Amino acid sequence: MSGSAGVASAQRALPVLEIFGPTLQGEGLAIGRKTMFVRTAGCDYRCTWCDSKFTWDGSERPVWLTPAQVWAELVEKGGGGFDYVTLSGGNPALLGDPVGQLIRLLHEHGVRVAVETQGSRWQPWLAELDDVTISPKPPSSGMETDWDALADIMRRLEGSKAHVVLKVVVFDHRDYEYAKAVHARWPNVPLVLSVGNPYLQPDEGEDELALRLLDRLRWLADRVTTDDALRDVRVLPQLHVLLWGNRRGV
Ligand code: SF4
Repeated sequence: MSGSAGVASAQRALPVLEIFGPTLQGEGLAIGRKTMFVRTAGCDYRCTWCDSKFTWDGSERPVWLTPAQVWAELVEKGGGGFDYVTLSGGNPALLGDPVGQLIRLLHEHGVRVAVETQGSRWQPWLAELDDVTISPKPPSSGMETDWDALADIMRRLEGSKAHVVLKVVVFDHRDYEYAKAVHARWPNVPLVLSVGNPYLQPDEGEDELALRLLDRLRWLADRVTTDDALRDVRVLPQLHVLLWGNRRGV
């Protein structure tokens, strides 16, 4: 990231940890979609298997950027080769109006905008997005889902122009049952299931990692295809991990 951070407009600025791309969206219904990423700092969760701990463990300091500065950096890095930006974290929904301003600025430039959030906090700008992935965290994360907060968010998103999907990462049997409970509550919202990646060591060989994850994906595929309780469901890999292993910024 460039060192262009200024604090003159701090009230309208966002804490940004990474801006990168163009790359491919690795997860969810937009899997494979060419996109830029803006990763914000801060998360209200502490998932045991979090692959982005640097967003909340204090190991990295964010740069405060106004929406205009974020746009300038996206153009600097992405040139003219993108029309889709994914806001990621951390949990971008911890941040208020500056994110809404960024979304509007991106729309003015003809860029579609997506976000992934765990569904713990509502922000009005969620309804302005093109694609919203709500990814409640299963038991293996060590987090407790606030079902009331999640239900409130899902209700507010109903009727918005945002394309909404639910996504659950499945590590084990309990997570799978949790995913079924999510689907039972919102059977009309598409559900994406993917397998968790417990092999987060940076030196994990990429080919070996891909094989191990494909094994887990087969296990999940076998369960889903023989389970009458799951209907509008997609089983997807984490494409970026298959392509690039545990590398950051891809
Ligand atoms: S919600 Fe996401 S960013 Fe936050 S701790 Fe969990 S996995 Fe990490």
